[in-house]
Amino acid sequence: MRTMHIRNGRIIDPANQRDEVADLFIVDGKIAAKPERGDGKVEEIDATGLIVSPGLIDVHVHLREPGFAWKETIETGARAAAAGGFTTIVCMPNTSPVADSPSTIAWIKDRAAEVACVNVLPTGAISKNLAGEELAPIGSLAQAGVVAITDDGHCIQNNELMRRAVEYARMVGLPVLDHCQDYNLVGNGVVHEGYWSTLLGLAGWPSAGEEAIVARNTLLAEACDHQIHCQHLSAAGSVRQMREARARGVKISGEVCPHHIALTDESIQNFDTNFKMNPPLRTERDIDALLEGIADGTIEILASDHAPHAKFEKEVEFDRAPFGIVGLETELGLFLDLLVHRRKAIDLPRLIAMLTINPARLLGIEAGTLSLGAAGDLTLIDPNLEWTVGAQSLQSASHNTPFDGWQIKGRAVRTIVGGKTVWP
Ligand SMILES: [Zn+2]
Repeated sequence: MRTMHIRNGRIIDPANQRDEVADLFIVDGKIAAKPERGDGKVEEIDATGLIVSPGLIDVHVHLREPGFAWKETIETGARAAAAGGFTTIVCMPNTSPVADSPSTIAWIKDRAAEVACVNVLPTGAISKNLAGEELAPIGSLAQAGVVAITDDGHCIQNNELMRRAVEYARMVGLPVLDHCQDYNLVGNGVVHEGYWSTLLGLAGWPSAGEEAIVARNTLLAEACDHQIHCQHLSAAGSVRQMREARARGVKISGEVCPHHIALTDESIQNFDTNFKMNPPLRTERDIDALLEGIADGTIEILASDHAPHAKFEKEVEFDRAPFGIVGLETELGLFLDLLVHRRKAIDLPRLIAMLTINPARLLGIEAGTLSLGAAGDLTLIDPNLEWTVGAQSLQSASHNTPFDGWQIKGRAVRTIVGGKTVWP
């Protein structure tokens, strides 16, 4: 019998409305009551001054394997997750081959079981090859063990096809995650359409390009009475629509990523491609709306959209560079710093709920709680630890972050999966 005894931490377990300083035990990989004396080896961990949280969950991660192992592998991505405090990550299907068949899902699961130090949960594509033309075999993907379907990176433009996808997903009990981008409105846009796109002569990606698909998804979530989760929200109008729809009971939800509340489109003026993401950085007004949505519960989930790219891929003209940044290792610190310390949009228990039980509920997975018998997945957090982001010292195989050199307050100091420390 292996026992881990975590002493004297502030246990925050929003699923059980628990917030108290106490000891916590993991016995044989599961959360347990205080064990009887003298039964096996005990590992003692002093958590005085630390928060003991259920292991954090990130619902939006690109692991790049199979197919793009020079950017990231399942192994390096999992290590980055552990270093960021995440015990469970959900990987997107835009790999090569695309994760649109049970065999690719099986490959990802086998590979993760072999090399990943955290739990890796695959998603399946909505459409074959993410082409938006024909549905992937959603029933077989469900059987193969995906936790959701999404065409992330792409967006199904045909509303009828999307409707059928939502209906199938409902039948097999999978949530639909959607990257909201209207191709006609966005065109070849690379940055937020506004003052800076005009001044710099870069093609604009207007807010309406996201809001139009959020509106479509709201209609379909209501028509099909099924969950559609809008990924990486960036625009004020998306939050407004979602607030109204959720008040009527529509099963629509959304997530926010750190960069969309930490940075505005003003930062693209140096043409640094580490500030190029999809959807793009927007304005102060959008940030305020996202913060308001987080504060009032319109947005209940936080995620990274961890998108590794190699240096040679990002070091090209702004128009030609790929979208996205690495995020797993800066995510918790940025959210703690921005949402809790600086803007005071939410308190610590709310932040932890948004990174644990809320994503677990969206996906219908057993994780994100410290209930007796739950998996011994924990994150120990020092909310006041001040540290500096060093792009080159990230565990991820890629280092494309706009936050290099940032001073951040708060980070995970230990990550535990199944009763074993996986970080540091
Ligand atoms: Zn996306």
